[in-house]
Amino acid sequence: MNRTRRVKIVATLGPASNTKQVILELTRAGADVFRINMSHASHDLMRETVKHIRDVEKELNFPIGIMVDLQGPKHRLGVFEKGEIDVKPGDFITLDNDPTPGTSERVQLPHKEILDAMDPGHRLLVNDGKVNLKVIETGSGWAKTEVISGTWLADKKGVNVPDSELTSGVLTDKDRKDLAAAIEEEIDWIALSFIQRPEDLAEPRKLCQGRVGLLAKIEKPQAVERLDDIIDLADAIMVARGDLGVEMPLELVPSIQKKMIRKCRKAGTPVVVATQMLESMISSPVPTRAEVSDVANAVYEGADAIMLSAESAAGDYPHEAVSTMNSIANSIETDKGYLSTILGQRPDPDPTGADAISYAAAEIADTLDLAAIVCFTASGSTGLRAARARPAKKILALSPVPKTARRLALTWGTQCVITPDAKDLDDMVDKACRIAFRENIAKPGERIIVTAGVPLRKSGSTNMLRIAYIGSDGQGSVYQSTS
Ligand code: PGA
Ligand code: MN
Repeated sequence: MNRTRRVKIVATLGPASNTKQVILELTRAGADVFRINMSHASHDLMRETVKHIRDVEKELNFPIGIMVDLQGPKHRLGVFEKGEIDVKPGDFITLDNDPTPGTSERVQLPHKEILDAMDPGHRLLVNDGKVNLKVIETGSGWAKTEVISGTWLADKKGVNVPDSELTSGVLTDKDRKDLAAAIEEEIDWIALSFIQRPEDLAEPRKLCQGRVGLLAKIEKPQAVERLDDIIDLADAIMVARGDLGVEMPLELVPSIQKKMIRKCRKAGTPVVVATQMLESMISSPVPTRAEVSDVANAVYEGADAIMLSAESAAGDYPHEAVSTMNSIANSIETDKGYLSTILGQRPDPDPTGADAISYAAAEIADTLDLAAIVCFTASGSTGLRAARARPAKKILALSPVPKTARRLALTWGTQCVITPDAKDLDDMVDKACRIAFRENIAKPGERIIVTAGVPLRKSGSTNMLRIAYIGSDGQGSVYQSTS
């Protein structure tokens, strides 16, 4: 498959889509990465879904990324005698650690660490922020709260605590089991929910042992405050607008999104914009105008990927949701203003060989109107730096490592092909030409630019670029060399 779209699409799988047939259709419609949400999937279902995705990958000969999203410390209320209670502003309700079903006076909050971290003035946002409780008094194992807004509380509703810094790590026992099961499979990304601080990445990093990339979901104000350090340590970032919009005032989310994309682009760390992008498509075959604008905005900002959640996992129109996202992105990317907008925010190159070559390659490809920039990348870092330059021309990343190709499926503008290492420089140029031709990226008579690190197989920074012709037989011939 040869896609011209630069921004990538992440589609969450669930009951509406986790069969092999639907995964095949969603990939053809534009999905580059699939997300499996461990808040809803059992280990068996996760394994089966991974197998379907890998079967589809083989059938289409197209590397697909798989992201397993851990639930993280998602907090919930206990239960009520009658399943629910009515509340109104000014009412008081005490949260405690007693599993006895709740009344209009008290209910269990079965998370000791939250009760311990509560101080007067802290907020608890229940049921996606529909009910707002303010702590007015605390004691050992209880917190008395006042209802500030909202009308109704019910069993097991989710609770967000934006003001309280929890001391517990980011992985729950369930997460540890889910992570262990996931890294046994051929997956590429682990998404970490409710990260609060950079240290939260340490335990998952140790448990993953380099087998998968770590994506930090930014959905708490504490994480927004320490964004730079988290970006430094994570392999990818998600603007998790769902919980972020509960924990922070909604009107701050768009500027946080912009700030996060800018910072991630500067670091060269892939960034995914997530949640409610085409929300109305859960039950409608067409999106709202506002949703189209939202997707377009993320594309104009130069995000690496845009994500579908319930739209593709549990909605009535998973296929339409992916193809709508695909058409919006294609349309924006062919707008004349698109590249200048993206380039207006392009970070300067770092003073390294890899960046100097990546930026030069982008410029040469433009000046000579080349068909593509082809880079050889074993670990993926050359591919990431090439994408950081946001070149106008397509990046074709060639890697002998399937894991690298799949991981780069999340990265802007990069198409990956898995191929054995080149024997020498001539073979490298030939290979680049052959594959660009085979993938319909370059036609005979067109030229490509090839970047690599020499000597081959010695990991180190990119230090070479060459321009090559695609011969009439689809093979390469070296045209000019700057090595
Ligand atoms: P979730 O994360 O879908 O797992 O809640 C994304 C978000 O909060 O936006
Ligand atoms: Mn979330």
